[in-house]
Amino acid sequence: STPVTIFCALSKAATTGLLIKGGDYLELLAKVKTVAFDKTGTLTRGEFMVTDFQPVRDEISFNTLLYWVSSIESKSSHPMAAALVGHGTLHSIEPKPENVKDFQIFPGEGVFGKIDGEDIYIGNWRIGLRAGCERDSFDVVQRMSGKTNGFIFCGATLVGKFGLSDTCRSGALEAIEELKELGIRSAMLTGDSNAAAMIANDQLDHSLDIIHAELLPEEKAKFIEEFKKDGPTAMIGDGINDALALAVADIGISMGISGSALAMETGHVILMSNDIQKIPKAVRLAKRTFIKLI
Ligand code: ADP
Ligand code: MG
Repeated sequence: STPVTIFCALSKAATTGLLIKGGDYLELLAKVKTVAFDKTGTLTRGEFMVTDFQPVRDEISFNTLLYWVSSIESKSSHPMAAALVGHGTLHSIEPKPENVKDFQIFPGEGVFGKIDGEDIYIGNWRIGLRAGCERDSFDVVQRMSGKTNGFIFCGATLVGKFGLSDTCRSGALEAIEELKELGIRSAMLTGDSNAAAMIANDQLDHSLDIIHAELLPEEKAKFIEEFKKDGPTAMIGDGINDALALAVADIGISMGISGSALAMETGHVILMSNDIQKIPKAVRLAKRTFIKLI
């Protein structure tokens, strides 16, 4: 092979904001069969809006609940956390992170914090099970508007619920369509609910070939292993919940601006912007480079 040609292609990619950590990854990009996308923050903007926020028990007021949630979420860098903190500010409730003890993140589930002596869990149904709540007791709760439903538990008791919505990035549909033209299939792997995955797919004109929702980080990695049986597989993600899948993929692509430090470190390719249309462009560049060499 001609190292100079490869070097030129890597430099060219770098000037467009795509850092490829070596010619081997460029060669894999030329042969990629499947591109798997994380949803939240990758296909979507990750800029959530709180569409509903409600206590479900009379003992706990709206303000107390929102003070708990905004204080605990102010310690999280998850895209949903910023929206919940913002919802507090909207209601003149400032977060008090200094009152939160034992803060913990459960990837794919949510967060935990002790505040004013109460054990508070915030997240999806999985965090409810972790809190010790029976699934039946929160499954019957009426769903909130918005695409993503969240629950708040005080100990094992459901005390509140909220709805969040997000929108797809501009260019996401175009990226998937361009990959399709290149004979590459696109998959969405998300930790979010089935309902949220379906709404994102609607916004993307049903262009995705494969969709899997409600995944834990290790389940995302398992699907990547499956895709690899059909050929080289790229995974693109931003969160700590994506790090495992990024590492397992032949080409792990991390979002450099909005992404977590862990995702950046794990990535073989770093996208220095949020423009996911750079992915099919990089595939074209890789194909041109390696066809020239043959
Ligand atoms: P994705 O794969 O779409 O990026 P994540 O794995 O980051 O999603 O999150 C999966 C789910 O876990 C979210 O949809 C949400 O229900 C819950 N979750 C994760 N982090 C938080 C948080 N900080 N606050 C509330 N819920 C959270
Ligand atoms: Mg994400």
